[in-house]
Amino acid sequence: MTASLPTDTVSTLLRQERIFVTQPHLPPLEQFMPYLEQIWQSKILTNGGPFHQQLEQTLCEYLGVPYLSLFSNGTLALITALQALRITGEVITTPYSFVATAHSLLWNGVKPVFVDIDPRTFNLDPARIEEAITPQTTAIMPVHCYGQPCDVEAIRKIADNYNLKVIYDAAHAFGVRKNGESVLRHGDLSALSFHATKVFNTFEGGAIICPDAKTKQHIDHLKNFGFVDEVTVVASGINGKMSEINAAFGMLQMQHIDRAIERRREIGATYRRLLADVPGVRCAESSPDTESNYSYFPILVDEEYGLSRDALYHKLRDHEIYARRYFYPLISDFPMYRGLASAQRSNLPVASEVALKVLCLPIYPELRDEDQGRVIEIIRAARA
Ligand SMILES: *Cc1c(COP(=O)(O)O)cnc(C)c1O
Repeated sequence: MTASLPTDTVSTLLRQERIFVTQPHLPPLEQFMPYLEQIWQSKILTNGGPFHQQLEQTLCEYLGVPYLSLFSNGTLALITALQALRITGEVITTPYSFVATAHSLLWNGVKPVFVDIDPRTFNLDPARIEEAITPQTTAIMPVHCYGQPCDVEAIRKIADNYNLKVIYDAAHAFGVRKNGESVLRHGDLSALSFHATKVFNTFEGGAIICPDAKTKQHIDHLKNFGFVDEVTVVASGINGKMSEINAAFGMLQMQHIDRAIERRREIGATYRRLLADVPGVRCAESSPDTESNYSYFPILVDEEYGLSRDALYHKLRDHEIYARRYFYPLISDFPMYRGLASAQRSNLPVASEVALKVLCLPIYPELRDEDQGRVIEIIRAARA
């Protein structure tokens, strides 16, 4: 069978497979066919069709949130959330995130003000927020980094005191609960991402969690050019709608999501157990009151390990294991943000240190035990 393949292909096949930091969860293709047939029959491809409506309702129930508006991706959800709340001036946010967090502010003509993170949770440190507030500050945009809940109570108190809005970038926080309640219910709005690399994916996709029906309606208008009906446009809206194909795929994914998260939990527990005694390798803490989604498995590589984080990163790559340095560089260190953030950058000692030590290890439902074993083996052996 392999005889017809060129020899270099054969040798590639025989080599160990590459392991990436994540791999999108895809149900068997034949399970998707009936959904496609329905779309072909109805000829409804987008504009809030039946799958779009079903997925919004299903997600509200699953996530335990009152209202949700689907988007074509998480970045448009963030941009539109800021539009919906008419955010202007300056917004306090974290430098330790994916670049879309701060980009969404720039797309709204808003200046990001970067504040340092908590070394334990990697989230915006509430104790550092107040000193960054100026008369121009209108909102706080924290990230539940790696799905770890922010200190939502402390952030709410500050926001209330200074009359600021809170928009959570909840791209990592699908299904995360604290004390039995969804973390997505906090803040004025939360934005989710359903990108291929996230715990729940619709290829591309996202959503805004809304506290009430009126806000959802406003956001539904904004994501559809501002149309209210055939002849009425109420706002300079954008096209941020999720298509029926993506929404149908989301409905199928929902049948597999619990098992996918359970498998992630097992993988996380194995890393924790087998890396516990490696000097200089610290696994992120998990809190007993939090139901995690195990979206990422970050470790911090300290001096005690004997090898730098980057040396370990390259060692893993030599073995075709593509761990990722999320989040390095900090957003505030990207050249386009440097000028803007020059005065702030010296104020970010914790984020700067974590960015140099962090490494996210492969974690995804289809990761095989033997492949995870290889990752662990290399980390254990590399320091010798
Ligand atoms: C993935 C991600 C986004 C962007 O979501 P997209 O759906 O890819 O547009 C925003 N913020 C964070 C923290 C993310 O991880």
